[in-house]
Amino acid sequence: MKAINGAAEALGGKDKLLAVKTLVIEGSGVAPNIGQNPHPEGPLPTWWVPEFKRSIDLANHRARTEQHRVGMFPFALPTDQRQNQGLDGDVAFNINGEGRAQRASDTAVADRRIEMLGTPLTIVRAALDPGAKVGAPRRKGSEELIDIVTAKGDKLTLVLGGTTHLPASVSWITSSENLGDVVNTTSFEDYETVSGIQLPKHYVTKIDFRDWTSGDFHVSKNIVDGDVGDLTAPVAVKSAAAPGPPVISVDAQPVAQGIWWLAGTGGNAFSILFEFDDHLTLFEAPTSEARTKAVIDKARALVPNKPLTEVIVTHHHFDHTGGLRTAVAEGLTVISHQGNEGIFMEMTSRKATLKPDLLTQSRKSLKFRGMDDTLVLKDKSTEVDLFRLIDNTHSPYLIAAFVPRDNLLVEGDLMDMTWVQHPWAENYRKNLALRKIHFTKDIPVHGRIATFDEEMAALAEMEKRTK
Ligand SMILES: [Zn+2]
Ligand SMILES: [Zn+2]
Repeated sequence: MKAINGAAEALGGKDKLLAVKTLVIEGSGVAPNIGQNPHPEGPLPTWWVPEFKRSIDLANHRARTEQHRVGMFPFALPTDQRQNQGLDGDVAFNINGEGRAQRASDTAVADRRIEMLGTPLTIVRAALDPGAKVGAPRRKGSEELIDIVTAKGDKLTLVLGGTTHLPASVSWITSSENLGDVVNTTSFEDYETVSGIQLPKHYVTKIDFRDWTSGDFHVSKNIVDGDVGDLTAPVAVKSAAAPGPPVISVDAQPVAQGIWWLAGTGGNAFSILFEFDDHLTLFEAPTSEARTKAVIDKARALVPNKPLTEVIVTHHHFDHTGGLRTAVAEGLTVISHQGNEGIFMEMTSRKATLKPDLLTQSRKSLKFRGMDDTLVLKDKSTEVDLFRLIDNTHSPYLIAAFVPRDNLLVEGDLMDMTWVQHPWAENYRKNLALRKIHFTKDIPVHGRIATFDEEMAALAEMEKRTK
């Protein structure tokens, strides 16, 4: 506790900290879109956040985060979004544009509680709480590291600066479907004095995967004990049950002989199954371990006499690789563009201890079959022609499949009938022409099965809307 008391002293004094009722942080910054970089080795695309406001009611354990974000990258969904997220004790909720509040999951409760602790004032106060467990400080260079288990059971590590004793950063571990354990670190920079308390004017949050930045915010205003209004969860939200994890069902729709579209619920990205002479091949392992495991089980049940041996992964984006670790755990060889091998290797060689997943339990490692321009998978039963999308801005290593016998296109992120805009439509048409593909049906990872004419009409509509 000596180190914590030292930090409290450096921040303005224990009594002063404990007397604070509310804190408001206003500013702007960027929030990079984790796992959605076009090139797997390139920079992340970012949401620009021109307005950010976090209001914390310390005495009542309530918080509200309001932000306006604008996508600074080609995106098929709305790029101008306003978010309003609340936390009231153990109740999390979101307020939509019309002011309607809806209860959020218990995972959101835990995430928002950690967000609330991500300031020097709140984390030191949490450590001063008699219900908290504070570990003995460890030295790392000139800094002191202190493990804290809050009264609520959240585990964080606080780092204090060697000379100033001011909090330099706080870290905590989260669990990711794509990456296993993820260490998140928020650094506190450029302290200023407000009402006698030291508060940072710059927050940078990074994860321990490629040192990616997940948020970088400059504070325009720190307000201590200002009026935060009523942050109480609406009665209707409190009485509503918290939504549980998504219900997973896999609905296998036959689309041609030995080909199934594995749609259903539990995610907005689907898989496709191909039956060959002596084995099965899956197309895409998206969303999560739970969804991909259910898809794999379904595939095995559909054709029980043939082993499922491989999975084609269209590109590295995290919505398409949430089940990559699961596929590796299940012994599947991963087929993708060779440019994706590096990131896939990194994603599948990380540990998951917070929520031990099938990969961590299996101790398996990635088996990768790379391709460049094309790869033909063919035997007496089936032919699946894989090809790379040339000059595609969504990802330079995006691949898709064509089934000549049935004239089917099988793809992820080339087209979705529900998209509001299509920034790489021109490239999509160009690649179809280049590969001489005029499909009867497109069996997609996102959206619904559509014909060539339906898609071309929808594309024209999207382009008209965005011009
Ligand atoms: Zn993508
Ligand atoms: Zn996608």
